[in-house]
Amino acid sequence: MFAEEDLPDRQDLVLTGVTALTMDPAIGDVPDATIAVVDGEITAVSAGLPERTPPGARVVDGRGLIALPGFVDTHWHLWNSLLRGTVGDAPGRDYFSVKRGLGPYHEPADFYWAARFALAEAVTAGITTVHNWDHNVRSPEDADVNVRAQLDAGVRGRFSYGPRDSTPADEPMDLDDLRAFVQRWPDRRRGGLLDIGVALRGPYRTPPQVYRREWAVARELGLPITMHCDRCLREEGCSSCGLTRLADEGLLGPDLQVVHAVHASPADVTALATSGTRVSLSPITELRTMGFPLVTELFEAGVPVSLSTDTLAMPTAPDVFTTLRAVEAVEAARCGSGVVTPRRLLRMATLDGASDLGIADVTGSLTPGKRADLVLVDARGSNLLPSGDPAEALVRQGRATDVRTVLVDGRVLLDEGELTQPSARAAVADADARRDALVARARAAGAWD
Ligand SMILES: [Zn+2]
Repeated sequence: MFAEEDLPDRQDLVLTGVTALTMDPAIGDVPDATIAVVDGEITAVSAGLPERTPPGARVVDGRGLIALPGFVDTHWHLWNSLLRGTVGDAPGRDYFSVKRGLGPYHEPADFYWAARFALAEAVTAGITTVHNWDHNVRSPEDADVNVRAQLDAGVRGRFSYGPRDSTPADEPMDLDDLRAFVQRWPDRRRGGLLDIGVALRGPYRTPPQVYRREWAVARELGLPITMHCDRCLREEGCSSCGLTRLADEGLLGPDLQVVHAVHASPADVTALATSGTRVSLSPITELRTMGFPLVTELFEAGVPVSLSTDTLAMPTAPDVFTTLRAVEAVEAARCGSGVVTPRRLLRMATLDGASDLGIADVTGSLTPGKRADLVLVDARGSNLLPSGDPAEALVRQGRATDVRTVLVDGRVLLDEGELTQPSARAAVADADARRDALVARARAAGAWD
């Protein structure tokens, strides 16, 4: 079911002559920079030539390249990635119908390879941290294979354990298995690359006796909580997210990540800001299916905001540059306040994502002492010439295919545009066959036409 372990060894590197967009507020941009990576750690970011080259390090001429921290994706349903292509405009082929129809026919191997497939695409786009938001855990094995996929892919992140898809509203998720899962995956098995969270349905989809119990167990276990907030509360009208009521119940706080919140009222936004609750926005899926992401309002209120893909099975792609370009354009049309700048958006996609996941001391900026999660963009393509401000260029003209090299924790996972792991390449090559087998299984059971 699994791939052979084929993570490349960590590579000591010295990059010279690179344009560094460090996203570290104390360092800023460094033109003509030298960046050193030793044992998976960034050991130097400096102007000019290196003081000394670590013995055995590969020296890379970075002229014409922009270096930036790897992107952080804070909400991504990796499990349903193989449904892309089946979801479309034909009747009965919308995202929710396809998810409902084919979700039950996923076997653990499908979950493993769906996650590997999505993570391969993440790496090609320069995304080095992914929050795997699993809202279809049907058995202990389902959760385990997801974690295994994340570790095998070598991508940093979080796995958030959720209920199986379509769990009845009045039925709690399997809290005993959640406890067992946490026991099964202690820190030492996760290699410093992954932490664990819990994905709850909350008051939007479950009654008080369910969400209060789930919330209490999550907090008892000390797990960060994530929850979709894409519609009004069950017993309220549809004018807002009802987050003020969640605040009254003591549910908000820095341990909660709310996803979407496109219907947040001004009072809801204030409740988010004062409680330190985090918000993950998936702008393209929100624009397609929910409404406007409230980027300007959330930024202005000081709410911690991060960026996410949501799912490969909706009409979107994990192309961060294209997504940020859309956000800047929509916000210019909607608010025009000048708050949503390319540099601020890049921070949302890097450092603020790391803060959302509680790992800003590890990743999110090119800072000596942090782990080497690093992206090299080729700035010599016609779309990025003639050159100008690098942040403006990336957000306004960049493409995911400009990403040439990607390191996570000092391992080169993308080299000159090629995935270095044979298993990652296999995840892509076999995606059609795995999807076809899944559909055939559902069809044989009479659940798919
Ligand atoms: Zn989602």
